[in-house]
Amino acid sequence: MQKIYEGKAKILYQSEDPNVFLTYFKDDATAFNAQKKGQIEGKGEINCTITTALYRWLESKGVSTHLIERISPNQITVQAVEIIPIEVVVRNIAAGSLCRQTELDEGTVLPEPLVDFYLKNDALGDPLLTTERIRILNIASQEQITQITELAKKVNYLLQEFFLSCEIILVDFKLEFGLNHQGKILLADEISPDTCRLWDKKQSDPMSRILDKDRFRRDLGGVESAYGEVQKRVLSRVDSL
Ligand code: UDP
Repeated sequence: MQKIYEGKAKILYQSEDPNVFLTYFKDDATAFNAQKKGQIEGKGEINCTITTALYRWLESKGVSTHLIERISPNQITVQAVEIIPIEVVVRNIAAGSLCRQTELDEGTVLPEPLVDFYLKNDALGDPLLTTERIRILNIASQEQITQITELAKKVNYLLQEFFLSCEIILVDFKLEFGLNHQGKILLADEISPDTCRLWDKKQSDPMSRILDKDRFRRDLGGVESAYGEVQKRVLSRVDSL
């Protein structure tokens, strides 16, 4: 199969249908703009499972995603989209770069969800964007930015509730959007412990509660079991619906 693009965690292939791509989830893990590299055993399958479950659930709540179907443990078919080169981060609690770049302490509950835009460009280290910069770079129209912001807030509202029912706190997460052949904006990429900060509500210890890629970034150990725990809770929640 013809490879279209190989990213840090996934490979995108063409299919016989020009409107359908195939996504393969890898076990490879990277952090700090790929300066740190490793493998998380079973991650590809877990992230494929979690993304499929969450995207199906979001679709049931009226969010249009690129997901078509899961075709193997590590593979999904998706609608072919042109990715808008913006990483949309939604934050409920201060962590990561927000704490490094501001005076906020990790764990500070934000008065309202914060939507941040970053340019999807590894060579530049994914710099923070402003809406004015987006306009000048001509990477999305004002209307598309408004739509993306509303969609990101809706996904946050839905996912916060979903994860809370799994006893998981959704700290922050990254979304990517794409345009299909009709120009419709679809939620693309993935939602998984690679792209979210997830804290176990049952644990108060700031290190033990981490159930996401921060375990890998910060060498905390127990990466596979944390990802497995998220998968278990997400699946038991969708099964009970
Ligand atoms: N994130 C991501 N991909 C990126 C950058 C960030 O999935 O290239 C996610 C990250 O896992 C976290 C959220 O977006 O859930 C916010 O990340 P932040 O800006 O705090 O950056 P970091 O601390 O990861 O450098």
